[in-house]
Order: sequence, then C-alpha cells, then structure tokens
Amino acid sequence: AGTVVLAATPIGNAADASARLVALLEHADVVAAEDTRRLYALANRLGVHVGGQVVANHDHNEHGKADSLLDRVEQGATVLVVSDAGMPTINDPGLAIVRRAIERGLPVTCAPGPSAVLDALALSGLPTDRFCYEGFLPRKHSERMQYLRSMKGERRTIVFYETLHRIADSMDDLLAAFGPDRPMALCRELTKEYEQIRRGTIGEIHESVVNDPPRGEMVLVIGGASQEEAQQAAPQSLSVQELAQLAK
Ligand code: SAM
Repeated sequence: AGTVVLAATPIGNAADASARLVALLEHADVVAAEDTRRLYALANRLGVHVGGQVVANHDHNEHGKADSLLDRVEQGATVLVVSDAGMPTINDPGLAIVRRAIERGLPVTCAPGPSAVLDALALSGLPTDRFCYEGFLPRKHSERMQYLRSMKGERRTIVFYETLHRIADSMDDLLAAFGPDRPMALCRELTKEYEQIRRGTIGEIHESVVNDPPRGEMVLVIGGASQEEAQQAAPQSLSVQELAQLAK
C-alpha cells in the first residue's frame, strides 16, 4: 500500500514550508487540499509544480471523500493531505481520513510544521509545560460565558483561536469570567510581517483591544488558574467523612 501523509503548510510566511512539504507537493500521486485555489497559490509562491491529481477535501465533503482517497492508497498511491494553513486536523479538515485510514489498517504519517497553537504558546511567555488547546470560543455570548466560567479553575495554560470579528466581545466575556488580573497574550499575524504579541493582564489586553482593535489572525493564550483560584472555582465537594455522616 501507499501512504496518507498529512503535511503542515505555512501560517503566513512561505519560507516556513519544509523541504519535505515541497517534495511531497511535487511527487505525491494525489493532493487532497482544503481549498484547491489556495493550494495552487502556495505552490506558486514556493515555485513548485504540483505533480499529482488535486482534489478538494474540505469540512463538508471529507467524510465522503475518505474512502475513495484510501482506495488509492490501497493501490499504492501517496495521498498528501493539506489544509489552508498550519497543521491539518487542528481546526481544519484531515481527521476523517486519519480515522478511516486507522480503521482500514492503512499507513498514515505526518510531515509536521507550522501551527498557530504552538507558535503562540511559545511566544506567550506563559507556562508551556502543561497547556490545553480549546479551539474557537463559542459564538453566542451566553454559551461563551457559560463555557468560560467552566474554564475558570483550569490550572493549565489555555490556548484559544479567535477572529477579528469576535475579539472585542470575547475580551469582554473573558474579563467578566476570569477577572482582570490573569496574565495573557494576544498573538496576531504570527510569522507575518506585522506579527505582534501583546502581553499583559486580561484587564490590560482588554483595554488595548478597545483602544487599538487588533486586525488579522490571532490566538489568545491565557495563564492557568492559581491553586487558590482553582479551589475557589471547584464545585463544593464533600469529604468521605461528610458523606458517611450524611448516610447515617
Ligand atoms: N490548522 C491551523 C493551525 O494549525 O494553526 C488553524 C486553522 S484555523 C481555521 C484558523 C485560526 O488559526 C485563525 O482564526 C487564528 O486563530 C489561527 N491562526 C492561523 N494562522 C495564524 C497566524 N498567522 N497568526 C495568528 N493566528 C493564526
């Protein structure tokens, strides 16, 4: 059999394309791309000729596509899976084919590379030894508040993806749910010419977002709860002794 290869693509700076990505674009038998126009745009920037067949593989069709792509793998093909930017499967298509390849016992591997999660986390200056990636915050205010409140006691550093359309509302809710004092970083336009990292407390970053609305792509990194905050946030639980007392 051939192989499925997930490959990360640049998140802004074409020079971050790995030599392995370039070789795969040239030589893979099939390239399954989230958006075929963006794939060709990337290939152009890299000066690469995409040698194989190019097929669209996006959120709306990836479940249906997985088996036909894997049939090709079974026949010996290398199927390259790329998303518009960064690591496939990370808030991007790719997981459907990985799961199906595992089910069918077909080889799947990865040509790793840029992903905004790790870039932002590393630049945030916040603890990296334990972190959780939470994708995009819920769109609706009420769901976002409920969700953020449920995260208040999280001890690990928290990474969220965010969009310029919702950043002001999300910062309002973050301030309301977590209070002003937590450290955080707003990391925007990573790897691009106007990369900017705003570091401060939630209160300070909130103010900076009001005064100077950030544009472009962005990631929020929030410091985890202190032990005290985590204890305050924890639901009141009864000790074994208290439970025994109640059972009497
Ligand atoms: N698969 C991608 C990855 O591995 O990072 C993520 C795709 S997700 C649809 C797009 C989101 O990733 C953006 O809304 C933003 O939150 C984040 N992102 C992607 N590129 C970025 C960049 N250059 N700077 C800051 N955030 C970025």
